[in-house]
Amino acid sequence: MKIAFFDTKPYDRTWFEPMAKEKGFDIIFHEEKLNKNTAVMAKGADAVCIFVNDDADSAVMDTLKEIGVKAILLRCAGFNNVDLNRAKENDITVLRVPSYSPRAVAEYALGLLFAVNRKIHRAYVRTRDFNYSINGLMGMDLEGKTIGIVGTGKIGQAMMSIIRGLDMRVLLYDPYPIKAILEKDPSAEEKWGKGLEYVDMDTILKECDIISLHCPLTKDTQYMINKDSIAKMKDGAILINTSRGGLVNTQDLLDALAVQKFGGVGLDVYEEEDDYFFEDMSDAIISSDDLVRLTSYRNVILTSHQAFFTKEAMEAIAEVTIYNAECLAKGEELVNIVLP
Ligand code: NAD
Repeated sequence: MKIAFFDTKPYDRTWFEPMAKEKGFDIIFHEEKLNKNTAVMAKGADAVCIFVNDDADSAVMDTLKEIGVKAILLRCAGFNNVDLNRAKENDITVLRVPSYSPRAVAEYALGLLFAVNRKIHRAYVRTRDFNYSINGLMGMDLEGKTIGIVGTGKIGQAMMSIIRGLDMRVLLYDPYPIKAILEKDPSAEEKWGKGLEYVDMDTILKECDIISLHCPLTKDTQYMINKDSIAKMKDGAILINTSRGGLVNTQDLLDALAVQKFGGVGLDVYEEEDDYFFEDMSDAIISSDDLVRLTSYRNVILTSHQAFFTKEAMEAIAEVTIYNAECLAKGEELVNIVLP
C-alpha cells in the first residue's frame, strides 16, 4: 500500500517513518497541504494521510477519485475539513484517530488558563528585559470560582479529572450528557469528584468565571461564541478554546476585547488558522488584520494548535494511523471509520 502524506513536518517523519517501514508501507511525505491544487500529487498512492488544516472538500474528493486514491487517513480526531458525503459517493474510505491523548489537550487548556489568569506570558517577557515590576499582573484565585466545560467527551472528561484538585464549582454543558453524572451515580463522583452539574448553555454563559470549549466544530457549534453569547458572559470572564477556531466568531471576540469584556482569552485555535499555523511566518507580513489584532491584546494568549503535541500523543497518533492503514490493507474491520 502506498500512502501520500500531506502537510508534513520533520516531527511527522520521526514518528511515522519507522512504524510505516516496519509494516511494509510505501510512504511519501509532502510538505504541501492537501487542497484542490495539490491533490494531484497523490497520483499513484492508494491513500492520503492528512492533518487538521488540509482541505478534503468536494473538489479534492473528485480529484482523489480520478487518480485512484481509495482512502483518507486522518492523523487527527476532528474531521470538519472532510466532505464525508462526497467521500461516500466517490467510494473513498475515511478513517481517523478518535482518541490519542485527551490528557495532552486538557493539560494544555489548563496551562492556557493558568497563564492568562496569572499573566505568566507577560511576566516572562518583562523579566527577560530585567523589568521586575508586577503592576498589571494581578490574577484571581481559581478556588471557589465557577468553570464551565462545554463538551464532556474525552477531552472534557480529562479536564474534569484534572480540575478536581482546584476546588472550583464545575458546570457542564453537552447535548449528550454523561448518564452517570445526570443520575448522580457514585461512580461518577469517584471518577470526577463532587458537585458536577449539567446546565444549559445560557447558565454556563451567565454563571461561569471561566469557560473552556471542548466540543467539535459542526453546523450547530459554529460561532457558538458570538456577540450574543459574549453579551451574556460575566465581565472579566476567561475564555479558553483548544477545540476549533470556528467555534468562536473572531470579529465578535475582537469587539469584546476592545471594550475590555474579557479577563483573559487563551486560544490554541483560530478560525483562519490554516493560512498561518504550523509555519514560521516571522519574516512575513501578516495580511490578516484580525490575527494581528488578536495577537496584540495583552490579555490574549494565542498558540498555533499545539495542545495535542506531546510525545505520547504523537506516538499514539502514528500507531493508530498505521493500524487504520493495516486494517484497510488486510480488509479487516474498520473500527475507526468516519461515516457521513
Ligand atoms: P469527543 O467526541 O470525545 O467529545 C466531544 C463532545 O462534544 C461530545 O460529548 C459531544 O456530545 C459534545 N458536543 C457536541 N455538540 C455539542 C454542542 N453543541 N455543545 C456542547 N457539546 C457538544 O471529542 P474530544 O476528543 O473530547 O475532542 C473535542 C474537540 O477537541 C475535537 O472535536 C477537536 O476539535 C478538538 N481537539 C483539539 C486538539 C488540539 O490540539 N488543539 C487536539 C484534539 C482535539
